[in-house]
Amino acid sequence: MADAKPLFETYNRIPLRFERGEGVWLVTESGERYLDFAAGIAVNSLGHSHPHLVETMKAQAEKLWHLSNLYESPGQEKLASRLTSETFADKVFFTNSGAEALECAIKTARRYQYAKGHPERFHIITFEGAFHGRTLATIAAGGQAKYLEGFGPKTPGFDQIAFGDLDLVKAAITNETAAILIEPIQGEGGLRSAGREFLQGLRALCDEHGLLLILDEVQCGVGRTGKLFAHEWAGITPDIMAVAKGIGGGFPLGACLATAEAAAPMVAGTHGTTYGGNPMAMAIGNAVLDVVLEEGFLEHVRDVALVFRQGLASLKDRFPEIIEDVRGEGLMLGLKVRVPHSEVLAAMRDAHVLGVLAGDNVIRLLPPLTTTADEAREGIARIEQAAAKLQQEQLKKTA
Ligand SMILES: *Cc1c(COP(=O)(O)O)cnc(C)c1O
Repeated sequence: MADAKPLFETYNRIPLRFERGEGVWLVTESGERYLDFAAGIAVNSLGHSHPHLVETMKAQAEKLWHLSNLYESPGQEKLASRLTSETFADKVFFTNSGAEALECAIKTARRYQYAKGHPERFHIITFEGAFHGRTLATIAAGGQAKYLEGFGPKTPGFDQIAFGDLDLVKAAITNETAAILIEPIQGEGGLRSAGREFLQGLRALCDEHGLLLILDEVQCGVGRTGKLFAHEWAGITPDIMAVAKGIGGGFPLGACLATAEAAAPMVAGTHGTTYGGNPMAMAIGNAVLDVVLEEGFLEHVRDVALVFRQGLASLKDRFPEIIEDVRGEGLMLGLKVRVPHSEVLAAMRDAHVLGVLAGDNVIRLLPPLTTTADEAREGIARIEQAAAKLQQEQLKKTA
């Protein structure tokens, strides 16, 4: 039956209808332009309609879209060898999304312990405020009640503790623990950085107890923090890492990276996907890396991040009634605000600049990595307009 609203009502959609994108700009059906610092939730890493991605997709569209994993895949081999030569990893499994990359990571960690003769070691320690996806296993890993409610028994094997306390981690390790799973910077949870010391502590605990360290770099990876992967700032490496979002630049693509040792038990038949790593996804993933690995690209990210940092810090000083704190790293930034974050996001929208809500009353700013310093300044000026308007309203209320 035709419903007036034919979509599942799972989203509170903002009433904006975009028709096209140009770099950091989105354009509505009626031609209004918005600065896009949401970037498809950190997905449009090269902005919209990046010429190299457009050309790549057009060329691949005339060759081969989909193949399944029944045959050899030169595109997967190429992308995997580039990813492994740039990272700790030796092996890569391609997926279509972040949650699937996490599923692969979780299965790989459990299978590793199983192959070592420890099938009882299937528990994974996770952290409050985490977000790992919306499949049944990843909502259990994320542990947020609002995502678990009504979906049957929580998938067993995820032990959640407070974020950032190494003593709690130590206390949570049992002889059933397989791995520790963490986002180096929580995205959804409110832009909280695990920090160098904590990540180093987790690495040491994993080594001491024979556990695998799994990093979820679905949001913070692929250049977003000014390094190819966020954990590089901490000087540690994981055993397994889930990647997605920015790696496809807007095309659905994820990857699970692992050391040879961790991936060894994932033999033929243990895991699979129909779409994952198809030739179209691989062409685009390789094209994204062409740009991100270009000499000077990550330096550009760090430079523009500094422009954002300084601009936002000055907004915090000037609008203390509105902005409590500036958080995050690189181009993964958060404004912790003092009024409901949805009101701040709406005021930003009125000034034609887009962001994303996060937990802990934070506004996320995830501009394309290609954002220029001028575009950053333009965005900050628009956020300033929004903050000024809100501060005025706030002062009126308290007067
Ligand atoms: C978005 C996200 C996921 C889930 O990715 P999907 O592609 O939506 O399945 C997992 N982990 C983190 C940190 C994310 O930001």
